[in-house]
Amino acid sequence: MPDESAQWLFVETVIRRVMADFCYKEIRTPIFEQTSLFARSIGELTDIVTKEMYTFVDRGEESITLRPEGTATTVRAYIQNNLAEQAPLSKVYYLGPMFRQERPQAGRLRQFHQFGAEAIGSVSPTLDVETILLPLEVYRQLGLTETTLKVNSVGCEKCRPKYKQLLKEELRKIQTKLSPESQARIQQNPLRVLDSKDERDQILTASIPLMKDHLCDECKEHFTSVQALLNRLSMKFEVDGRLVRGLDYYTKTAFEITSPQLGSQDALAGGGRYDLLVEELGGKQTPGVGFAAGIERILIALEKLGKVKSQEAGPMVFFVGLDEASREWAFMKCCELRGRGISAELDYLNRSVKAQMRQADRLRAKFVVVIGEQELKSRSAILKNMANGEETPVPFDRLDSVL
Ligand code: AMP
Repeated sequence: MPDESAQWLFVETVIRRVMADFCYKEIRTPIFEQTSLFARSIGELTDIVTKEMYTFVDRGEESITLRPEGTATTVRAYIQNNLAEQAPLSKVYYLGPMFRQERPQAGRLRQFHQFGAEAIGSVSPTLDVETILLPLEVYRQLGLTETTLKVNSVGCEKCRPKYKQLLKEELRKIQTKLSPESQARIQQNPLRVLDSKDERDQILTASIPLMKDHLCDECKEHFTSVQALLNRLSMKFEVDGRLVRGLDYYTKTAFEITSPQLGSQDALAGGGRYDLLVEELGGKQTPGVGFAAGIERILIALEKLGKVKSQEAGPMVFFVGLDEASREWAFMKCCELRGRGISAELDYLNRSVKAQMRQADRLRAKFVVVIGEQELKSRSAILKNMANGEETPVPFDRLDSVL
């Protein structure tokens, strides 16, 4: 709605400014893609792919899907447009609508909006930390400071298969006691059992082995570096060995940022490294790392904190017209001022002077000029400063220069 848009614009302006400060350039990717792109990247067995995608067969009999997230689309565009040839490292960000068919509730919508960034081309743990800092800096500038950061390592193709096997064996020992959902996940997606919301599952798996304790040397070293960098930056964080994100492409670092201002849907942002994704989608082996963050949830949290701001300014001048001829003059003047980049508004509804003044107030106009027969004759009017009530007579031909 128009009033809400002003708040969105404010948040988006902060996002774009922070992205520019971190030297990320915007990438605008399509809203829909071939279904296979998401199935291959997010994972055939993930909730997003099995239950939540808006998938259609188009008139060319091709299966297409409204993008449920931004990384797969960005990586597809990266490969298809040979960005690797332009620079060894691509730092891009996106902002726009995503679609998932979930049960709508507070903070969970079927069309929602994310901003996110991807740094493709380097294994450096500094980039893992940079993509954690990016959303946190946006939150800081917006006044959302009470966030919690959780980090984990989900291993790589060398250490994860062995760990998965171990985890499956351990889970099978308690299989019958687990929730039906977790039981179903043991075979295909055992890591997701670890972040089950079911309380009994959580108790049963309390002492189950965690990936972070079974990392290969390379993953261990990477995770240690990420934590050391976060410490050097005095960032508060928790290592959460149960953090597994709902997308299969992550390797090594995974992280999540939550807000106490949000209810059950408390995740503000999540992300991690995906060193295999570019290759899986047909590109050369290229490491990458990124994050995605919900915009609706920022607005919910800001509202809870009473920090919702709008950067929308009122018009510079509002013309109150006393008769037909004055209104016509005001319309002409408005057109002229707008052409010079000065925002100007007038009454279009033949309202009374009082109602026009109220309208000027509601719009938060900086100045009001009342035009009547006399003003038209003398080619001069009173300019009223709405902030301090000051009234200044101004000849028509000087109006532009005083506004
Ligand atoms: P994900 O892509 O699942 O890692 O989600 C990243 C962020 O997007 C989450 O932390 C939320 O802030 C936001 N998000 C994800 N799904 C939804 C949804 N259905 N409605 C609103 N926000 C969402």
